[in-house]
Amino acid sequence: MKPFTYERARTPAEAAALVANRPGAKFLAGGTNLLDLMKLEIETPSHLVDVQDLGLDRIRPTPDGGLRIGALVSNTALASDERIRRDYSVITRATVAGASGQLRNKASTAGNLLQRTRCPYFYDTHQACNKRTPGAGCAAIGGYSRQLGVIGVSKACIATFPGDMPVALRVLDAKVETVMPDGRTRAIPIGEFHRLWGDTPHRETVLRTGELITAVRLPRPLGGRHYYQKVRDRASYAFALVSVAAVIQPDGTGRVAFGGVAPRPWRVEEADALLPQGAAAVTKRAFRGATPTHDNAFKLALATRTLASIISRSQKGAP
Ligand code: SF4
Repeated sequence: MKPFTYERARTPAEAAALVANRPGAKFLAGGTNLLDLMKLEIETPSHLVDVQDLGLDRIRPTPDGGLRIGALVSNTALASDERIRRDYSVITRATVAGASGQLRNKASTAGNLLQRTRCPYFYDTHQACNKRTPGAGCAAIGGYSRQLGVIGVSKACIATFPGDMPVALRVLDAKVETVMPDGRTRAIPIGEFHRLWGDTPHRETVLRTGELITAVRLPRPLGGRHYYQKVRDRASYAFALVSVAAVIQPDGTGRVAFGGVAPRPWRVEEADALLPQGAAAVTKRAFRGATPTHDNAFKLALATRTLASIISRSQKGAP
């Protein structure tokens, strides 16, 4: 691991300024992804600004009937919160589908949004990777791509965003609240938070240098039945080949987002409107323009079947 320096910030704005003013600095929250990447020297920050003591670890109601989840709320605390389990259970289902109990105790809400891809070539520093080294090429294209993306990918990178909880946040239309180094704040719709790779796959979100996530804001509860179904190569502690988050109302209308298929949680609002017509109609629209590889074309059929299973359960009133 490369040497680095460390300090604790006292306020969110101070943390943002500390990172903005020091080249090579990064925020440290739960560290469950960053520290692994530092050990592999894929991430080599010169300085870490610890944001764990900023009072961002609470879930509070908002005046409009929603909830504001502090950026440092752990995955375990989020999944087990009574309000989340009652009104936003798609979040609980998605969060407990990720990682392991130990990791969820430490991993933060903001960190979950910022997870790096699990493309195997990204983690192998002997392989060409545009995300790790811009302009180096992409060993996954023409390589082993079973786990990689089928839509929203580019000629520079075909990796996926690996998270589960953000797929649920996408179906709920959450907003990501941030503070910038000058103290200004903004709320970014979750659908605009992750970039598509294009020619710059090393730029994964719309966050600016030093911009710190402070919270995730949920709108009022949507009602309906909440589902998160994750299909993976082993039963636990594995990333999604395909996952589906859905909120389905008693009349069969609802919302759907897909994980494990694209650079961001993948939702096409026009496809939501086709839910009453069945899973195939939804995925045909949601995956229009898909460019799967020989290895991962199965994800398109898998997405349809996973959604069909959810629709069938909802029609039977099953959880
Ligand atoms: Fe790197 Fe993306 Fe290619 Fe994987 S798919 S090797 S992350 S550029």
